[in-house]
Amino acid sequence: MKIDFAIIGGSYAGLAAALQLARARRQVLVVDAGQRRNQCVDDHDGEAHGFLTQDGRAPGAIAADARRQLRRYATVHWMEGLADEARVDTGGRLSFRVGDVTVNAGRLILATGVRDELPPVAGLAERWGRSVFHCPYCHGYEMDQGPIGIIAASPLAQHHALMLPDWGSPTLFLNGAYAPSAEDLEAFARRGTRVEPTPVARIEGFADVVLEDGRRLPMSGLFTQPRTQPASPIAAQLGCAMEEGPMGPFIKVGPMQDTSVPNVFACGDAARAAGSVTLAVSDGAMAGFGAHRSTML
Ligand code: FAD
Ligand code: MG
Repeated sequence: MKIDFAIIGGSYAGLAAALQLARARRQVLVVDAGQRRNQCVDDHDGEAHGFLTQDGRAPGAIAADARRQLRRYATVHWMEGLADEARVDTGGRLSFRVGDVTVNAGRLILATGVRDELPPVAGLAERWGRSVFHCPYCHGYEMDQGPIGIIAASPLAQHHALMLPDWGSPTLFLNGAYAPSAEDLEAFARRGTRVEPTPVARIEGFADVVLEDGRRLPMSGLFTQPRTQPASPIAAQLGCAMEEGPMGPFIKVGPMQDTSVPNVFACGDAARAAGSVTLAVSDGAMAGFGAHRSTML
């Protein structure tokens, strides 16, 4: 099939891009594999926070509202499935496949998100999105100023150790993943963050940290620092330039969310160092504007 604008990834960023293009009466295809990064929160009946007007709603309900509103626009087309085999041919034409269907697109917007790689601590992955998180702004408030465990996965734990006293009473579990400097330790002491060098054996209960020496420290919640990877190889298939962020690689974009490959745009977690629903929606809107504007230049 042939389409003016194809969007790969139909979550917050992709749907925000689609909305702008739909409102310009452009023909848009949204391809989505249905694997939002925060699906884990829905799986535990949890809430998304920090997105204006939607604070405390289920992440899936926010995405479902967006889809429902977009379905009112006749020029938006939908495909469920995984896009793959993206290519730019010698004439600069863009194509990809979804199952047996080859899609030729005038403009392509990548809103494919990232995947989280958690440190290999027993019991952590099962609690991801329930009592284990990475973003204090999203989930710190609900810890109710109680005891907060920081499971170090990398030296990025330093940021958590400095930030989280504003949300509760943190203990930093070094777990062999991070060796703070003398200055770091002084700063943690100033901020009131305790440091626990004994390795973590496992997480039990809601958020109990069980140490290798047998001690059990119940927490209101835990934070860790996942490494992120692009959720999709599409950007790599197209040869989009990447940037290395503190958490992992992401697609390099210009001010209109344009990538290094002509007519390819990117937005959301896939194209920024660290993301949120608000920022994904903002980048997505800009990618929609950028892709549309590029057809007039
Ligand atoms: P995603 O929401 O990850 O969506 C990407 C979409 O692209 C998916 O539907 C996926 O299936 C699809 N896709 C990928 N590759 C392909 C392909 N090849 N073909 C077809 N489809 C494809 N943010 C907040 O603002 N508030 C919170 O409270 C909050 N809590 C969070 C809690 C946890 C545990 C986690 C992990 C994240 C949380 N976030 C929160 C961050 C938030 O989930 C992300 O910032 C947001 O989902 C990014 O939106 P996105 O549209 O860029 O990507
Ligand atoms: Mg930007």
